Amino acid sequence: MITMDSFSFSGKKALVRVDLNVPQDANGKVTDDTRARAIIPTVKKIIGDGGSAILMSHLGRPKGKVNPAMSLKPIADHLSSLLGQPVLIATDCVGPDARAKSAALKPGEVLVLENLRFHPEEEAGDEAFSKSLSELGDVYVNDAFGTAHRAHASTTIVAKFFPQAKLFGYLMQAEIDSVGKVLGSPQRPMTAIVGGSKVSSKIDVLRNLIGSCDELIIGGGMANTFVKAMGGSTGASLVEEDLLGTARSIVKEAEAKGVKLHIPADAVVADAFAATANIDQCDSDAVPVGWMALDIGPKSIETFRASILRSKTLLWNGPMGVFEMEPFQQGTIAIAQAVAEATSHGAFSLVGGGDSVAAVNQFGLADRISYVSTGGGAMLEYLEGKALPGIKAVLG
Ligand code: AMP
Repeated sequence: MITMDSFSFSGKKALVRVDLNVPQDANGKVTDDTRARAIIPTVKKIIGDGGSAILMSHLGRPKGKVNPAMSLKPIADHLSSLLGQPVLIATDCVGPDARAKSAALKPGEVLVLENLRFHPEEEAGDEAFSKSLSELGDVYVNDAFGTAHRAHASTTIVAKFFPQAKLFGYLMQAEIDSVGKVLGSPQRPMTAIVGGSKVSSKIDVLRNLIGSCDELIIGGGMANTFVKAMGGSTGASLVEEDLLGTARSIVKEAEAKGVKLHIPADAVVADAFAATANIDQCDSDAVPVGWMALDIGPKSIETFRASILRSKTLLWNGPMGVFEMEPFQQGTIAIAQAVAEATSHGAFSLVGGGDSVAAVNQFGLADRISYVSTGGGAMLEYLEGKALPGIKAVLG
């Protein structure tokens, strides 16, 4: 298995799947370039070695049709300013222009292919389309963790045309290594913190984590389903009635495996789903009729914090409350701070899978976490214990 550090790209044309699917304003200006910045180390290594980089990505959802509003041109221009050198753009990702520009590429140069999803063959994982892409480069690098859970042409199928010359980019490798530190052979005790709105979207994550963690903290809207399943009164809180049995079986599974399960003891409750609602606190199993639990309360914060601070490995996925509204963000802030504090005492912390990433960024704590994942859906599937097609294709 070749790696970025062991491989010399000298004289090679590297075909690199990156994630340049960045948010833009109405004029196409990049509003958050986190994903573009994340691929810079990989691109710099390739060109620094004396190779050239052919970058391919999707942008938005053009649904298999050319849509000028979703052109990668403005992103290529932005990338050029990040790299401090010109970046070429091909008018398509396959066909004569892509072939000619790739063929003419000199060592040290960077070319961005036009949006892969202008072709329906990309998401269909079409073999012939994958082969056309493969013909542009000598070596395949996958650095797009955000799409590693999709068996698309550029993320998965193309790898088969590089049986001896395929590898992970730095970003992808960092994501894989971080999950390995949590789910592989973690330093113990290992605590997983799972929040967010619904149990339904996290059942497989919870089941998989029960197999590897010592303590499991459940917060957010999904905790209400657990509280109700254990006989509590949840008022008008978000509860998935059809999952009460599932919640009970997860509690039993945790018991059977000796995993210490933490469900919130108290809650911040409101009489409407609004920042302007009347707000109170109560035990989480005694929410008054018509009121809803929108954050964890102070007793829960104290217990969760203690669990986090005694851990050597931490995984956090999903907020503890409706953190988008100021009155309900204290629980999420407190957990973010506890994770950062544990990290400063030597614990390894991984925050991944959507809104908890937004939360640590919003609260300015991202640089105090060991690793903040770039892939929402991909991270969630990885934490479910699934083999991601984009990873399998490079390893296989
Ligand atoms: P998810 O995408 O499943 O990780 O869920 C994230 C969403 O869960 C955020 O938008 C939160 O506002 C929401 N959320 C967290 N706690 C609650 C709660 N107690 N009731 C309703 N929604 C919540």
